[in-house]
Amino acid sequence: MIIIRSIAKMQAYCRLAIKQKKTIGFVPTMGALHVGHLSLIRAARKKNDYVVVSIFVNPAQFGPGEDLKKYPRNFKADSRLCQKEGVDVIFYPSTEEMYKKGHKVYIEVKDLDKGLCAKYRPGHFRGVATVVIKLFNIVSCDDAYFGQKDIQQARIISALVRDLNFPLNVNILPTVREIDGLALSSRNAYLTSSERADAPVLFDSLEQARCLIKNGQRDAGKIIYKIKEMISGKESAKVQYVEIVDADTLEPLKKIKGKVVIALAVFIGKTRLIDNIIVKI
Ligand code: AMP
Repeated sequence: MIIIRSIAKMQAYCRLAIKQKKTIGFVPTMGALHVGHLSLIRAARKKNDYVVVSIFVNPAQFGPGEDLKKYPRNFKADSRLCQKEGVDVIFYPSTEEMYKKGHKVYIEVKDLDKGLCAKYRPGHFRGVATVVIKLFNIVSCDDAYFGQKDIQQARIISALVRDLNFPLNVNILPTVREIDGLALSSRNAYLTSSERADAPVLFDSLEQARCLIKNGQRDAGKIIYKIKEMISGKESAKVQYVEIVDADTLEPLKKIKGKVVIALAVFIGKTRLIDNIIVKI
């Protein structure tokens, strides 16, 4: 496994791989790797000749007052995990390498960046879209791998690839969870033990919603009410949003029909956690 810190070297590596007719699977991350990330790496390892993992905590996607400074960073542990998973390259650029002085160009996506998390994290998806496009121009991959856990991000990236004609497949893989249902997240490390005990309520409330739909409930407002009611039963939990949206357009629905995403963001203590499920009628 090699560690590449320069954009030019990363591009040269990809040019060579393409010349050798090898495929590249790419897993963009912000590090603090957990089994959720590893599931993406394993899928890439299975499908592609070379696996590139990027580790870059992207300042452009953090708003003022968010956790950019305290975001967990542990490159040694991350590189050990990557090595064990058979990763070929870790792309680990500095902030200065990725954002040269006077950086001027940012990418905006219409509509998909309006609801859900975008309402509460202004500028977040502009930062995500910008860094992902930059990464795709640095790591010329055949396949890129993302998690369903960040479903709005996954939809936005699929739209970028389609609308800007990137010659690559976007693979979106299921959310990996702890045994009690809590979605794995680098931010789970912020939780105290009592907050950790409350946190599975996110997934429990989503599963309750799935049950309601299975039993015939189609009124989105009533389902959202039930989810909020269940979450508010936990002392450390404060709902930021619960939404039921169309799985393709991410537009809010009043009546459940077709393929829908039930998505939520909840503060557990000071830690903001997100989760979602997809339900097909
Ligand atoms: P991050 O390092 O948080 O930016 O995440 C990097 C990638 O891992 C993104 O595509 C995430 O959606 C994905 N990811 C994060 N958590 C999970 C999880 N629990 N299961 C599957 N994928 C995940």
